[in-house]
Amino acid sequence: MSELLENIKDVEKNIDMAAEKGARYSEDITLIAVSKTKPIEMIQELYDIGYRDFGENYVQELASKMDALPEDIRWHMIGHLQTNKIKYIIDKVYMIHSVDSVHLAEAIGKEARKRNMTVKILLEVNVAEENTKFGFTSANLEENFKEINKIEGIEVLGLMTSAPYVENAEENRQYFVQLRSLMVDLKDKGLYNKNRFFLSMGMTCDYTVAIEEGADFVRVGTAIFGARNYV
Ligand SMILES: *Cc1c(COP(=O)(O)O)cnc(C)c1O
Repeated sequence: MSELLENIKDVEKNIDMAAEKGARYSEDITLIAVSKTKPIEMIQELYDIGYRDFGENYVQELASKMDALPEDIRWHMIGHLQTNKIKYIIDKVYMIHSVDSVHLAEAIGKEARKRNMTVKILLEVNVAEENTKFGFTSANLEENFKEINKIEGIEVLGLMTSAPYVENAEENRQYFVQLRSLMVDLKDKGLYNKNRFFLSMGMTCDYTVAIEEGADFVRVGTAIFGARNYV
């Protein structure tokens, strides 16, 4: 078996164990293989054994991979998105996880209406309040959520966060608990009225803890594809 397949099997095993620990069904958890900077051949290898959910951060890279790979891949946009680039990916992404401003949400809505479509989005929350990261704060999420929820052409389905890089995943448990409770608050206040919401949280360093705390999407790159080389 290739290293890639061995890696993803290990990740699947960890997901199963974490789901059990959190009293959840692993079928309810979607593993997004974060393939940024990684070649098309690796994505194809995973596709060939049945994987369909892939995550990318950069519009140009995403657009060229979309063109080269099968159409039934569900592409998750997880990186910071500039309004002038929306048009290159909007009709081909499955979900945009990284909506971090009302301005961006409005621009996505406008492009979606032009194409007569509805785009699934998550709102990114910088729960750990790191200076280097984008996203709403826990404090201003509610007012921004209200604005964004009114926009036509988009459908808000939940929240996303990237917790700090840590050696010990336990350190990030607090942030996953916080993201979940922000969503529960919106629901309790009647602001979010769909039956189901989605939490996108957990990366290589902390996805098992994120699952225990209710992650629906985990975004795992390094543990599957190996370390990234940025040039
Ligand atoms: C790169 C990236 C990931 C994957 O990170 P790993 O640590 O390699 O698993 C997940 N989420 C976001 C937003 C990313 O940018």
